[in-house]
Amino acid sequence: MSDYRINTKCVQGGYTPGNGEPRQIPIIQSTTFKYATSEDMGKLFDLEASGYFYTRLQNPTNDMVAAKICDMEGGTAAMLTSSGQAANFYAIFNIANCGDHVVSSSTIYGGTYNLFHVTMRKMGIDFTFVSPDCTEEELNAAFRPNTKAVFGETIANPALTVLDIEKFARAAHAHGVPLVVDNTFATPVNCRPFEWGCDIVTHSTTKYMDGHGAGVGGCIVDSGAFDWLAHADKFPGLCTPDDSYHGITYAEKFGQGGAFITKCTAQLMRDFGSIQSPQNAFLLNLGLESLHVRMPRHCENALAVAQYLKAHPKISFVTYPGLEGDKYYDLAQKYMPNGTCGVVSFGFQGGRAAAETFMKHLKLAAIETHVADARTCTLHPASATHRQMNDEELAAAGITPDLVRFSCGIEDAADLIADIDQALAQV
Ligand SMILES: *Cc1c(COP(=O)(O)O)cnc(C)c1O
Repeated sequence: MSDYRINTKCVQGGYTPGNGEPRQIPIIQSTTFKYATSEDMGKLFDLEASGYFYTRLQNPTNDMVAAKICDMEGGTAAMLTSSGQAANFYAIFNIANCGDHVVSSSTIYGGTYNLFHVTMRKMGIDFTFVSPDCTEEELNAAFRPNTKAVFGETIANPALTVLDIEKFARAAHAHGVPLVVDNTFATPVNCRPFEWGCDIVTHSTTKYMDGHGAGVGGCIVDSGAFDWLAHADKFPGLCTPDDSYHGITYAEKFGQGGAFITKCTAQLMRDFGSIQSPQNAFLLNLGLESLHVRMPRHCENALAVAQYLKAHPKISFVTYPGLEGDKYYDLAQKYMPNGTCGVVSFGFQGGRAAAETFMKHLKLAAIETHVADARTCTLHPASATHRQMNDEELAAAGITPDLVRFSCGIEDAADLIADIDQALAQV
């Protein structure tokens, strides 16, 4: 980790060219890499030497971009994945196997909930979902002897709850397991979960990090702070020899700072192959170069929109953790004093019909199943992502029929408010 501030890390982290080398990160668009002798290559396969041999495992472009995100989060090692879904799956599956158990916040991204609740259960991994607002007693009661990790989102998509990272980290560590936090919505510009006791961070880089709707991607970062060997009985995958790598014990060979990501690359990326393409990693890096400039504007615009909506007589509620009076305002001030994210959700006095009319009349804000983009986008979940659900099922998912999710881009706030204003006039 460098000593530079986050703004400098966004621009220059991960890659320092030497004399006559390209100023921009080179796109190494090659599946494979050449060696002079079989012995040289053999050392790579044995993890005796580090180097590239096949892009499914590692690629130099990807590694430079992962190194930048690692630096931004303040971690010791990182890897890119093909999507945020792959990042969360790998982060958990790297330490929890069939017969194990994970404690997760209940307010998480729908895709992650499905991954945990349906798909990973089929793999024999059990999950207990707890409210992010639970007491420490309730949280501690969710642990079992076979619990291997705790999971939550810094700011939940789309519920916009804020995770009390210190509370979740305390409980995880009291039970000898790491806390994994999906930091997609806050980004390391607004929150660095490692500073609050989190052990592993994941990202859907598809969102603010890319920021331009150009490439789907993910990232996993290790803080290097979790002592696997001190809990060796819980983590045999890291603390006992790996037969598929000639008996290497990751936690011994690669230390506390390198074991998690090395195992995740050597086993999971090798076997599941959810690699990010080098071309997409290059595009992701272009996004990262301006992340620290875009995030404050996203937050500024979202706060202006939230304040406008809060005062509007046709609006029944506004949820935005950066808005004074929001249920999560105090936690947001603690963990993200410089801003939260650009996503605001709200509802209408006129219910579902009002929401539908409003959506029809927006001109600047585009209807998309996407968030965290430079361009403002919006969604009415009850008529899109959650349209199979009736009103009761929606309520159980924390979504009211009139809820609109509005992801403020980096346009001029006055134009966004004017667009909302003219659409509300039609309601
Ligand atoms: C979008 C999202 C994901 C999934 O990421 P993809 O890149 O779409 O696979 C995971 N977590 C959060 C918080 C997200 O917003």
